[in-house]
Amino acid sequence: MAALYSYVKTARDPGFAKLGESGSAKTPRKRAMTRFSFRRDRLPPVVDVLALLSIEASKPNGSGYAQVRCPIHGEKNPSLSIHLERGNWRCFACGEAGGDALELYRRARGLSFAQASRELGAWEGK
Ligand SMILES: [Zn+2]
Repeated sequence: MAALYSYVKTARDPGFAKLGESGSAKTPRKRAMTRFSFRRDRLPPVVDVLALLSIEASKPNGSGYAQVRCPIHGEKNPSLSIHLERGNWRCFACGEAGGDALELYRRARGLSFAQASRELGAWEGK
């Protein structure tokens, strides 16, 4: 009887049940990676993207930002500040901003994300 009692106690122990649950929850889910064709690692350097847009960048300041003419609203004097390594940018004239050079390229050309990625060689497959 002593053995049976200890079995029941163990099975009802919440610690015992938790152990079984976490064991199945830890099993990694399989994901369909083929859905995503964007390859961020293949994006050209920021200065190359600017060159494609015929934008000449000034020398970057101490924080790494260069001043360029905004390709979105079009202007004579540079109001757009872009980080030449990270690619994040903001135009202080029209207020547009983005997190990378791809976004600037996309907005300047009026493209979709996939189209812009494809033109910059960062899209795999169709
Ligand atoms: Zn602008």
